[in-house]
Amino acid sequence: MHNQNPVFIPGPTNMPEALRRAVDMPTMDHRSAGFKDILHPALDGVKKVLKSETAEVFLFPSTGSGGWETALSNTLCKGDKVLACENGMFSQKWIDMCLRHGLEVEVVKVEWGMGIPAARFEEILAADKSHEIKAVLATHNETATGVVSDIAAVRAAINSAAHPALLFVDGVSSIGSMDFRMDEWGVDVAITGSQKGFMLPAGLAIAAFSPKASAMVESATLPRWYFDIRDMRAGYAVNGYPYTPPVGMINGLKMATDMLLSEGLENVFARHERIATGVRKAVAAWNMPLYAHSPELFSNSVSAIKTPDGYDANQIVTLASDKYDTAFGGGLGQVAGKLFRIGHLGSLTDMMALSGLAVAEMCMKDLGFPITLGAGVAVAQEHCRTSI
Ligand SMILES: *Cc1c(COP(=O)(O)O)cnc(C)c1O
Repeated sequence: MHNQNPVFIPGPTNMPEALRRAVDMPTMDHRSAGFKDILHPALDGVKKVLKSETAEVFLFPSTGSGGWETALSNTLCKGDKVLACENGMFSQKWIDMCLRHGLEVEVVKVEWGMGIPAARFEEILAADKSHEIKAVLATHNETATGVVSDIAAVRAAINSAAHPALLFVDGVSSIGSMDFRMDEWGVDVAITGSQKGFMLPAGLAIAAFSPKASAMVESATLPRWYFDIRDMRAGYAVNGYPYTPPVGMINGLKMATDMLLSEGLENVFARHERIATGVRKAVAAWNMPLYAHSPELFSNSVSAIKTPDGYDANQIVTLASDKYDTAFGGGLGQVAGKLFRIGHLGSLTDMMALSGLAVAEMCMKDLGFPITLGAGVAVAQEHCRTSI
């Protein structure tokens, strides 16, 4: 049997034993009184993790992608225009979803490895005098390239242009591992899934709506049924669901938010920053650049590592799995073979990260990459020892 634990992929992430047990529940009638004590603490916990006082949180049996669809279909109409940046495979897929829904997308394409160009967004929004653009789509952390974008800067761009567009943020690989300030950044819909920062199995789409976004639901005409937030809201008002909820997953989310909040959000973010810094130091010692173009873009939840020309990065991922039962992420889409990714979000300690670096080195050595065993591990050990 293959037992790849811990995993070093940017989702699904490692599951703490307590959360595995929280998810594994005997059947509960979701119409019985006990369900409210699972549902409401989970919703409140998510709000706290998002640093929001005013958001309305919705949990759909789905994944992060279903969260994208929830954001679009509850706020927009066919033919509406949205502004988005394509800087990696996840932002690209979200744009594709918009197109399939009949939205018009103004796409700002930047080289993969770059962040969202807020200044360019501002120019486009300022030029849109008739306010045709209804929403701005931003991928906070582009998981394909390990690039974090500055959401506060995107909000500032919208405000400087005095534009009323809503701000939708994909926080699937940031929320719960990296700082996310829904209210302060003026995020109108924040989206994530259960299997990344919340350390659970895949199965929940988590979407949080600002009052402004919630108000759009009556005028939005994109087809929706399963993802209609009005039905979900009506369900929550009577402690229930418009259909059968995955009670165990919601119980897991309640526990996951408890776990994050009791560690302290700032401590969680500091842990991920410290682990990510150790990984980056190791990567530098391997003489391999990160795919992210500059330090302010370096993600604390995933590092995408560019391998030297003439080597196939996918072989690292395959060998790690076949020989060492260890999971790394490969390059997605146009960067397949050019990079591999070390996911370091969710439930991870500095010591677990050290073992991942050691396995990556063994794989590269086995494959004849120009690497000295221990080179990266040694600097990461020094970093761990002196900063923990
Ligand atoms: C994982 C991920 C998604 C997709 O989420 P699913 O849960 O697989 O549907 C979307 N955006 C980003 C940034 C991601 O990392």
